[in-house]
Amino acid sequence: LSEVLEHEQDLPSRTTDGHDIPLMVNTGLAVDAVSSLKARIGGVGLYRTEVPFMITERFPGEQEQTRLYREQLEGFAPLPVVMRTLDIGGDKDLPYFPIEEANPFLGWRGIRVTLDHPEVLMVQLRAMLRASQGLDNLQVLLPMVTNVDEVDDALRLLERAISELGEDGIVVARPRVGVMIEVPATLYQLGALAKRVDFFSVGSNDLTQYLLAVDRNNPRVAELYDACHPAVLSALARLAAESRDLQVPASVCGELAGDPAGALLLMGMGFSSLSMNAPSLPKVRAAVRRVSLQAAQQLVDETLKFDSPAAVRKHLDQRMAEWQ
Ligand code: PEP
Ligand code: MG
Repeated sequence: LSEVLEHEQDLPSRTTDGHDIPLMVNTGLAVDAVSSLKARIGGVGLYRTEVPFMITERFPGEQEQTRLYREQLEGFAPLPVVMRTLDIGGDKDLPYFPIEEANPFLGWRGIRVTLDHPEVLMVQLRAMLRASQGLDNLQVLLPMVTNVDEVDDALRLLERAISELGEDGIVVARPRVGVMIEVPATLYQLGALAKRVDFFSVGSNDLTQYLLAVDRNNPRVAELYDACHPAVLSALARLAAESRDLQVPASVCGELAGDPAGALLLMGMGFSSLSMNAPSLPKVRAAVRRVSLQAAQQLVDETLKFDSPAAVRKHLDQRMAEWQ
């Protein structure tokens, strides 16, 4: 089977009825290893900037960050690279920036940290912008957004970063900006967010954790953590439909997008692209190539009728076996 999948890797991620579903890759380190995939993907759907920060001894400076980001942007140009601003806190701690809290996943995480430390965010934004000079494939993504004020504050800092560079004679285009949809509150604020940003990127890992109130890393409750819980799927389906009505492209960059059955559901719901870890690309591409968009839409309709996560899984397994 792996030989078959390997052979298919050069073929488009196109459904049997001719719809191209852009597959993107999630990156953090080792740009070389994944940039060889360039001809086969739609770009980088999620570059987790905290990953390189985790292996340094202090916050990398502006020059060092510019070098890191340039490597990503150049490695994939002209394809888009979605760079997420620092998403630390929760389970992602920097050794040189310890955060001690009783409830880290409900605490100081993602944009909450960087808006409290605008000096950190400004260095990062300026480095991203500097790195994008002449390439124009940078997109900026804001993690753990809970309300529109955070977005407005981040956008103001971005404008400031652009004008600061301008004062130094460095003229850069304003990148497209998106928000992660991963805090349930944002599901009910899509209209307000759509007025402010260019795209949505769904973090299904955190969205699942917060919708189900299940720690994504706690083995004791691991059985309860399921992105195919009917409530999560129905939230995702609504989100896809509403984003389409708002004419805001919505992609998914959580693990669900890298699961073949999950990917077919998301495609059927109408998400505009799917971003996953590189090792998941072959099986997702193969799944996409074996069904029609219409069949995937039908799979969504069928699946949304089940009340329990186990029933959803059973049904998906059955359908996936038929589509082998
Ligand atoms: C997510 O929450 O689904 C996501 C993609 O971000 P991370 O896994 O880095 O929190
Ligand atoms: Mg997340």
